[in-house]
Amino acid sequence: MADLRTDLVAPNGRKVNLPTGLFINNHFVPATSGQKITSINPTNEEVICEVEAASAGDVDTAVKAARAALNHESWRDLSGSDKGAMMHKLADLVEAEKETLATIETWDNGKPYTDSLFDIGEVITTLRYYAGWADKIHGHTIPTTPKKFAYTVRHPIGVCGQIIPWNFPLAMAAWKLGPALAGGNTVVMKPAEQTPLSILYFASLIPKAVINILNGHGKEAGHAIAAHLDIDKVAFTGSTATGKLIMKTASVNMKNITLETGGKSPLLVFSDADLEQAAKWSQFGIFGNSGQICTSTSRVLVHESVYDKFVELFKEAIKTLNKVGDPFEEGTFQGPQVTKEQYDKILGYVEVAKSEGAICAAGGVPFKGVGQGKGYFIEPTVFTNVKSHMTIYREEIFGPFVAISSFKTEEEAVEMANDSTYGLASAIFTQDIARAHRVADRIESGMCWINSSQDSDPRIPFGGVKQSGIGRELGEAGLAAYTSEKAIHVNLGTRM
Ligand code: NAD
Repeated sequence: MADLRTDLVAPNGRKVNLPTGLFINNHFVPATSGQKITSINPTNEEVICEVEAASAGDVDTAVKAARAALNHESWRDLSGSDKGAMMHKLADLVEAEKETLATIETWDNGKPYTDSLFDIGEVITTLRYYAGWADKIHGHTIPTTPKKFAYTVRHPIGVCGQIIPWNFPLAMAAWKLGPALAGGNTVVMKPAEQTPLSILYFASLIPKAVINILNGHGKEAGHAIAAHLDIDKVAFTGSTATGKLIMKTASVNMKNITLETGGKSPLLVFSDADLEQAAKWSQFGIFGNSGQICTSTSRVLVHESVYDKFVELFKEAIKTLNKVGDPFEEGTFQGPQVTKEQYDKILGYVEVAKSEGAICAAGGVPFKGVGQGKGYFIEPTVFTNVKSHMTIYREEIFGPFVAISSFKTEEEAVEMANDSTYGLASAIFTQDIARAHRVADRIESGMCWINSSQDSDPRIPFGGVKQSGIGRELGEAGLAAYTSEKAIHVNLGTRM
């Protein structure tokens, strides 16, 4: 079947020949139902193009292809070294196409072009990191009694469903593909309907028919993945509400699950902190990616003795570091929100915050400095005097919107930090090494940064506690989530 493609010219002048079909068994094919997704440029609200959108029937076709590929000797019997070589080859192809991939990402998602390039770098390092693991996956030998022992082997989990969010379309795909491929699995992936494009270009680089990529709507194609009886695992990144739904649906055949969900991560500033650094990292931690990061440090808790000084420095950091603008323009730090829906949702929180008594210290309004008032831009928004009962202290806003509160003691700071249904990340600013480790230990979060914010690395496990998720991605733990360990008991002569 002929590939489905469209010729486009991006806002930065780059020509892109983009596949638009469902990627099943290494071919781009039309959706059987004729459904399409329209991709919108969040910078100027113009249509970029339409792509095919999968139905449950298309998901079923992809699952059959993934199952056949899993059992085919060309994948099943491929050595770990050869799997690794294949993944390095994919990383090489991504590297060669990084400008085109970054262009599509920025166009479709609105993130600054330099951020997109950074994300593509993360795709490359993640694929290479897991390529390195592919020939180092093995079990253990476990002695038991003199005449018996056991050994373990690690098998792929099988056909893995992967459901991707729109905030890091390519990077989140790579976080899931790397360990899945190294572990010998095959994949049926559904990108987010808000950002369907970059992954299609990525799909055209895939060297082997073990990854199927189907754009589609969450309620239809996403649900079909979670519900499919021949999918063995589902890995998801997105909202906690959808994560709960997926968990429930996936119970139909007791799928293995990995969930990376929401957050309301606290950043604690103690009185002995380097305040200037704390202010700059706080700016980066909440306004990076337009606040659309699950680990955004959206609650800043500051010791009362340095509160006013910190707020002043924070506002200064916004002025000097937080250039809002066209994401293709050099120097832009904060682009538009991804969709009108997200933009409206975030601005809705401004009214809620004011009505509950928080003080708007900056922003809280659309940013009008780009184009002719088009695009989903919001001024960096700072609310102070935020109390822990307020909505903006409790709910994930997922935008350039920070809530600043004060505390009196270390004990109170920890209590306030842990006063959340979420537990994804946290950050601590102090120069007292003992306090830093003491507080890091007590904060209920899957990750904690000391004198920093938003660090992540393919070698380091990433994930949350409480309602921020189940399981870990990245690192060795991320690989373990894509293999299953079988125990083989050996009798060397015990007779009945
Ligand atoms: P979402 O969680 O609904 O969507 C994420 C992915 O899940 C998308 O691919 C979507 O198609 C899919 N999906 C949706 N419903 C599904 C279902 N019933 N079964 C299977 N898959 C389904 O997120 P959203 O609606 O795009 O955004 C809403 C809020 O979610 C945001 O405001 C933000 O707070 C949060 N969010 C968090 C992250 C994160 O990285 N933690 C990412 C995106 C959104």
